[in-house]
Amino acid sequence: KCIIDARNIVKIYQNGSEKLKVLDDVSMQILEGDFIVILGPSGSGKSTLMNLLGCLDLPTSGQYYLDGLDVLKAKDNQLAEIRNQKIGFVFQKFNLLPRLTAIQNVMLPLLYRGAKEEEAKESAKEKLKLLGLGERLNHRPNELSGGQQQRVAIARAIVGNPHLVLADEPTGNLDSKSSKDAMEIFKELNRQGNTIVIITHDIEVAEQVKKVIYIRDGRIYDKN
Ligand code: ADP
Ligand code: ADP
Repeated sequence: KCIIDARNIVKIYQNGSEKLKVLDDVSMQILEGDFIVILGPSGSGKSTLMNLLGCLDLPTSGQYYLDGLDVLKAKDNQLAEIRNQKIGFVFQKFNLLPRLTAIQNVMLPLLYRGAKEEEAKESAKEKLKLLGLGERLNHRPNELSGGQQQRVAIARAIVGNPHLVLADEPTGNLDSKSSKDAMEIFKELNRQGNTIVIITHDIEVAEQVKKVIYIRDGRIYDKN
């Protein structure tokens, strides 16, 4: 089953009279259960692509079907719903809320969807335990190491059983040990059936997976 079906995506930014084509004829199909790394240098269009794949922005032209849904035909409130229900986001800077504890951060997506407090708490606890943070449930982000914060962020991304986990430079702020640990977690989540897409400039991250999509100057290219 195809989770991501992007065809001939073009993204043009307009700065005054200047037009900048940041993505040029990008097509990709990502299947349920895939573990994909999208690798490219700085400025190649990765963040732009992440925003499009994550339904945070729309392409200038092309087609994008997420889980069979025609994203370009969706209204803004439908896009928010697609993001909330189908995608778990992981960011380089973790993006945890500093005043909330680990478990409260992980509960948020469920509460946002209307889950009951107790159910949300149980699910959040289960995911945090799964990621080795059973002893850190009531710690705030500043009481956790970078690697632990990223694990909280991963727990938050998967707590709603999304169809797709989309990670933007998830190891970018981690030391090499925590970075390896985070990759092991993504591998394990993938073995459990999660579809994972990591966007990165880090070749070491790409070396750990079988399927790599290379992007350069806004175009996908084949390394072989
Ligand atoms: P990467 O994540 O690979 O570094 P980006 O997608 O952030 O690449 O950027 C690709 C190119 O698009 C860069 O030249 C960047 O300056 C430009 N760009 C990104 N966002 C905008 C924007 N909102 N308006 C104009 N240009 C942008
Ligand atoms: P950067 O790669 O520049 O550090 P981030 O990875 O933090 O940026 O964010 C990538 C994009 O996702 C940004 O456009 C940001 O506004 C958006 N974003 C950040 N947090 C969330 C969130 N929790 N839900 C949806 N979109 C988000």
